[in-house]
Amino acid sequence: MGVEAAMRQAYFFHYVGDARAVVPASSGGARCGRHDSVVGDFLAARGRTPSGAWAHMMIIIYQSGWNASRQSSTFFPPTSPKFDAPQPTTIMPLASIRSWLRSVSDSKANYWSTYVVDVTLLTFFLAWDRVRLHVAPIAALAQFLLGLGIWTLSEYAFHRWGYHMGIPIAREGHDRHHEDPLAYIAMPCVVTPVLFLPPQLLIAGWFGVRGISSLLAGWFGGFIAYSVMHHCLHHYKWRFAWFRHLQSQHRIHHALPETNYGVTMRFWDRVFRTEFTKDTRL
Ligand SMILES: [Zn+2]
Ligand SMILES: [Zn+2]
Repeated sequence: MGVEAAMRQAYFFHYVGDARAVVPASSGGARCGRHDSVVGDFLAARGRTPSGAWAHMMIIIYQSGWNASRQSSTFFPPTSPKFDAPQPTTIMPLASIRSWLRSVSDSKANYWSTYVVDVTLLTFFLAWDRVRLHVAPIAALAQFLLGLGIWTLSEYAFHRWGYHMGIPIAREGHDRHHEDPLAYIAMPCVVTPVLFLPPQLLIAGWFGVRGISSLLAGWFGGFIAYSVMHHCLHHYKWRFAWFRHLQSQHRIHHALPETNYGVTMRFWDRVFRTEFTKDTRL
């Protein structure tokens, strides 16, 4: 049985109430349910570990949604009166938004555009303080370094509590990165301007608060450095000791996702006791 056929059957079991038979059979591994062959075929075809393959399959099923799957997926279930019965009408917009976000996030053009957009934002913020508010260079530099320092904690917090435990859409994207570390996945490049421009224009533009734009620029500097470093850790094999050290730490995170949340440094992992050591309990 091929992947499509296995997916179709798994989808069928899920929606007609056979999930209780499928889930224990696949996740436990020890039981011999009558659907083991379906899941087994899927696992063999994907060549993944049982739990990883099952999670992957369920993510695809949930992300596609009922209506979206029927319209666009290649593995939607066979037409039958049973399948036409439970069609929630409210899931369609959500599924559409999710599938659009996913298609944007998976595009290589978007991946590289995020760098262009974020460097542009950084330059714009710095220019605002220097040109419009006439902030002294030394003061702007101090604010920039403060923003950079704040970023290092943000990096840890976003990764640990945002990507691994937070809102589903961010978690899904990060789960896909863990499944395929070489894929070019990034949040849509419009997200950072939409989130950061309005407050900056309000605080620094409307109220004329000086220095806040340089602080934001420093924060973006850290974000860009993190993005570049994360890309290099997965795509290059440099010999520098510090690079190889960070690379091995990040590989450990991909194998043990509850350790080593820091990408550019280990400091916050030490503070929050999530650094992988030989004493870490597995
Ligand atoms: Zn990674
Ligand atoms: Zn992660």
